[in-house]
Amino acid sequence: MKKQRSSSPEPMLSIVIPVHNEAEVLPALLARLWTTGQNLDGSFELLFVDDGSRDDSVAILMAARQRQPEIRVLQLSRNFGKEAAVSAGLEHARGEAVVLMDADLQDPPELIPDMLAQWRKGADVVLMKRRSRAGESWLKRITASLFYRLINRISDSPIPVDTGDFRLMSRRTVEALKQLPERNRYLKGMFAWVGMPTVTLEFDRDPRTAGTTKWNYLKLVHLAMEGITSFSTRPLRLALVLGLLAAGAGGAVGLWEVIRALVFGISTPGYASLIAMVTFLSGVQLLCVGLLGEYIGRIYMETKQRPVFIVAEDSHEAMAYAQPLLRVAGHDQNQ
Ligand code: UDP
Ligand code: MG
Repeated sequence: MKKQRSSSPEPMLSIVIPVHNEAEVLPALLARLWTTGQNLDGSFELLFVDDGSRDDSVAILMAARQRQPEIRVLQLSRNFGKEAAVSAGLEHARGEAVVLMDADLQDPPELIPDMLAQWRKGADVVLMKRRSRAGESWLKRITASLFYRLINRISDSPIPVDTGDFRLMSRRTVEALKQLPERNRYLKGMFAWVGMPTVTLEFDRDPRTAGTTKWNYLKLVHLAMEGITSFSTRPLRLALVLGLLAAGAGGAVGLWEVIRALVFGISTPGYASLIAMVTFLSGVQLLCVGLLGEYIGRIYMETKQRPVFIVAEDSHEAMAYAQPLLRVAGHDQNQ
C-alpha cells in the first residue's frame, strides 16, 4: 500500500460518480459536493465518468471544472452501462480512499465525512445501508427483496441486503477489485467476493432529485441473471435434479403400468396423461438447455477478452500532455 500523502500529488480521497444523462441533477450535485469538499480535511478529486450521455452533462461538468480543478471527467466512447462506468472510475481513481456514489443525489454526499472517519479508524470498506427506500415503488422493493433472498441462497459470497453501490473503499480494496478480470461485471457480487474488514452505516435514501431512473425492468432482469450466473454454478445442478426426479417418476409409472397389465390384463387409454408428460418433460429440457446457454454465452463473451470500457477522453490527460484519442483502459496501466 502506498502511503505518501504529503510527497505525492495523489489525493487522499477519490469520489467516483457514473453519469448518464444527468444534466438536470448535476448542478445540485455539484453544489452539494462543493460544500462537502470544503469541510473535508484532506485533498480529494471528483472523478465523473460520463457513460455516453446525450444531454448537456459533459458540458456542465467541463464548465464546473474551470471553477473547481478537483473535477476530472472521463468520457467513455459510448454508453457501456453503469457497471462498466464504475469500473472505469475505479481503474482511474488515485485516492487512498475511494467513495462510489450515484449522480442522482439518492446517495447524500454529506455522509462522506462520516465514511472517512470510519476509514481512518481502520475500516477497509464502509458500506452504506438504506434504512428506507423513499420514492421507490412497492413493486421494485418486493422484487429487489426477492432477488436478494434468491441470490444469497445460491451464491457462495452473500450480498448484504439493502446496500447499493454507495460505499467507501480503501486503496487495497480497490486494488483487489481491479484484479478481478471478468468481462461480465456484477459489481455487487464482486464487492462481496473481495470481502475485507467492513463497517456498515445506515442512512435514509432520498428519492431521485431530478430526472428519471435509467433502469427498467428488462435491465434489472438482465442484471439479476448476471448476478446469479456469475457467482454460482448451482443452477446448473437443477438439470441434474429435475432429470433424476422426472426419470424416477417416469420409471415408477411405467412399472406400475406393467404390473397392472400383468395382473388385470388390461391396458388403459392414457392419451391425456401422455401428452401432459411429454409437454412437461420437453419444457424441463428446454429450460435446462436455456440455462446451459446462459452460462455458455458468458463463457463466449469472456473468451473474447474485450476491455470492459473504452475511454475516449480524459480531462486529466488532456491537461497534462497530448494523448492518443482512444485509450484502452485496464491492461497497460497496471504493468
Ligand atoms: N448510470 C450510468 N450508465 C447507465 C445507467 C445509469 O452511468 O447506463 C448512472 C446514473 O447516471 C446514476 C447511476 O448510474 O448516476 C444510477 O442510475 P439510476 O439512478 O438511474 O439507477 P437507480 O438509482 O434507479 O437504480
Ligand atoms: Mg438512482
